[in-house]
Amino acid sequence: MLGPPGAGKGTQAARLARAIGIPHLSTGDMLRANVANDTELGRQAQAFMEAGDLVPDEVVTAMVIDRLGQEDAACGYLLDGYPRNPAQVDDLVEALGEDVLELAILLEVDEDELVDRLTARGREQGRADDAEEVIRTRLAVYEEQTAPLVEHYESKGRLARLDGLGTIPEVFGRVIEVLAE
Ligand code: AMP
Repeated sequence: MLGPPGAGKGTQAARLARAIGIPHLSTGDMLRANVANDTELGRQAQAFMEAGDLVPDEVVTAMVIDRLGQEDAACGYLLDGYPRNPAQVDDLVEALGEDVLELAILLEVDEDELVDRLTARGREQGRADDAEEVIRTRLAVYEEQTAPLVEHYESKGRLARLDGLGTIPEVFGRVIEVLAE
């Protein structure tokens, strides 16, 4: 599941994973759990997350490879928020092979709407990185580091683009449609 912060990746990924019975692997959730539990990994990641920057690739990729090796991921998985830059794609593919990434679902939402959604989430859920200035950094990091992946997946014929505007069920309907194609 690919898209800028606030596009609805987490929401749609959770629904889709539940619907098709595969694990939903959100690197953001995994990292936040490590921070909450004050693990060594969490301590390495926390400052980057609070600033809205990416956590170093080797930390995140090692975490993902470890998770993909667990039994419940043997028959498939839905990655949410990973890979997040070209180096992460290369490292994952090198470790586990090209088919590790079968299809990227891109949720497209314009920037004004993203800022509105993230600001509202910051108010409702108190996520530290949903503060206004951190939101700007996260959007810029997406444009610089993650957006180039769109072209990468497209050139491999592994990209499905979706309009991420609308209600949660409306967007979910579009997700199901592209998977049915
Ligand atoms: P998210 O919940 O996906 O918006 O992620 C929250 C934060 O966790 C990001 O702003 C990054 O600091 C960190 N993070 C999540 N996934 C990755 C990743 N694949 N690579 C590097 N940092 C990540």
